[in-house]
Amino acid sequence: MNIRIELLNHYPWLPSLKDHYPDLKTEVFIKELFKKYPKEEIHERILRIFKAAFQNLEQVPKYESDELNIYLYLMLKILLYVLDNKSITNRIANLYSKINYAELIQENDANIDAICEDLDLEVLYYEHPITYGAHITKNQTERLQTNFRIHFIDYLKLAANLRDDYRKLINNPLTEGYVFIQKRSLIRLIQEFVRVKVLPKESDDKATLTAYREKYFNTEEFKEIYDKIIEEWKEKKEDFEFKEFKFSKGSDLSDSFPPCLKEILQKAQDGVNLTHNERLFLVFLLHALEYPVDKIVDIFSALPDFNREKTLYQVNFALEKKYTPHKCDTLKSLNFCMAEKYKDELCLNGYYSRKTDEQKKISHPLFYIQIKQYRMSRPQNIPNTQAGNENE
Ligand code: SF4
Repeated sequence: MNIRIELLNHYPWLPSLKDHYPDLKTEVFIKELFKKYPKEEIHERILRIFKAAFQNLEQVPKYESDELNIYLYLMLKILLYVLDNKSITNRIANLYSKINYAELIQENDANIDAICEDLDLEVLYYEHPITYGAHITKNQTERLQTNFRIHFIDYLKLAANLRDDYRKLINNPLTEGYVFIQKRSLIRLIQEFVRVKVLPKESDDKATLTAYREKYFNTEEFKEIYDKIIEEWKEKKEDFEFKEFKFSKGSDLSDSFPPCLKEILQKAQDGVNLTHNERLFLVFLLHALEYPVDKIVDIFSALPDFNREKTLYQVNFALEKKYTPHKCDTLKSLNFCMAEKYKDELCLNGYYSRKTDEQKKISHPLFYIQIKQYRMSRPQNIPNTQAGNENE
């Protein structure tokens, strides 16, 4: 199928790209791109995507769906391949799929149908909504209607990575092999397709990767944007470096826990019902420390609404999604920061960074743990020259 070019500008991952751009060969693509569009514009738009992903934003400021967007999508894929960094790749794939979700949700039904057809999905589209059931409450009966049905094989393929209970095939109305599906849910499935599509294929073939990287570096403008991304990542990755910090079996990190974490753990231990955000904070942080799943589940066991099976599912789900734990700024905005309450010297005064030769604030609870662990591992007889002035 040959989809309209306007739709392709928005969704360059559609298979029809090949029909509209049969001559797009990656070997010459990069050089042609920089001949066709100003370098500054390409760099700015690519960098905006990376910066947004590194800041964990949900959308990209000033995102445009024009013809250049098609080239930028391809360039993004090449960059992710040669960057060869899982942390960056996952962030970009998540963000890119969210941008596309936001755009798709604005499309009319006929366009969604055309997109499904281009993706070779067996989707039935009804111009007038069809009724497939009713939701009966005390005094009201709500008719369940939709304009879409999707073949269950395609449904299963697209929903394979989405583990919410309500998405399971058994929880969805199905007749004659087709699932009745709401437009929003259908678009959520397409979003997942996009996320996977952006991820480069995993390969251990580093020699080929190096050869490709060298080849692309022959285009100066490409090398420039690559370097800018690396520079940007170096600045931001400090926030993510904690991922190298591992929980080893039998070790007790509790002495190194920051006040915000201690407070919520204490609440859980006391059987206080934790809020949704408190639960997320705990789970994301403990996953980052590679705490065993059963230990995390046990922490919740004192809570009034504890259900082991449900908690186990949610903890595993968060693990699989690799959610990033909250930073101090976020925790402060949620009123979770307990630096003042605990009068914690490290949280209140920060630490000395030898790398940048300056006093730095604690920006992440995982840094706090890292620094505490470092301090505890140093020989006792090396005194600090100043309070809080160390060579972390
Ligand atoms: S400064 Fe950060 S680590 Fe310390 S208590 Fe506040 S949020 Fe937690």
